[in-house]
Amino acid sequence: MATKCLNFPRNITIIYPNFRCRRKGSSLQIHCPSLLSRLKNFIPSDGLCLVALTMLDLYEAAPDLFLAGLASGMERVALFSFARYDPCLEFSPELWWEVKTNKSSIPDDLRRRLVLGRSCKLLVHETGHLLGLPHCVYYSCCMNGSGHLAEDFAQSAFLCPVCLRKLAMIAGTPGLDARGRYEALGRIFRDFGMEEEEGWIRRRIEAGGADGDSN
Ligand SMILES: [Zn+2]
Ligand SMILES: [Zn+2]
Repeated sequence: MATKCLNFPRNITIIYPNFRCRRKGSSLQIHCPSLLSRLKNFIPSDGLCLVALTMLDLYEAAPDLFLAGLASGMERVALFSFARYDPCLEFSPELWWEVKTNKSSIPDDLRRRLVLGRSCKLLVHETGHLLGLPHCVYYSCCMNGSGHLAEDFAQSAFLCPVCLRKLAMIAGTPGLDARGRYEALGRIFRDFGMEEEEGWIRRRIEAGGADGDSN
């Protein structure tokens, strides 16, 4: 399946002039459901679904500390924020506006890789939902449900054999070229400098299970 990066307006006020938000001092959170409902207008005529990404912080209801994002399968749109994925962030478990960045807490390269890895996992998981995949209860899998950030971060970056077969059926490619897929994924992880994920792929291919096997 091809993906296309749209020239989406960077300024939220263009797509949502009177956007709903909450502010405290210099902190700002965008009301995710109301912005999500506007996004369906931006789905291209040949698009299966649309995923919008932001570094702005999101919330859904007043008691929320924050929201990683929301998907509306019926509308084929999703909105996600990477704002809380920065490992240098220190935030209060009670007050949404109490967020500090401690840049000395982690080397820049590791910080970049962690944000990238966490963001990639979120995108795979939520795009899987938009395409019709439910939460996985079979194996350690990128489609496992998670209740908080620690669970989210500990989750696998990869689809298990069950979810991979489901995805292949949804995509109309039941005879999945598993080895070709893993080799392509390996190149992406290498380009991104994601050594741990690339190593997992290499071991998977070396184990030989990628020949005609869906995992
Ligand atoms: Zn989910
Ligand atoms: Zn699974």
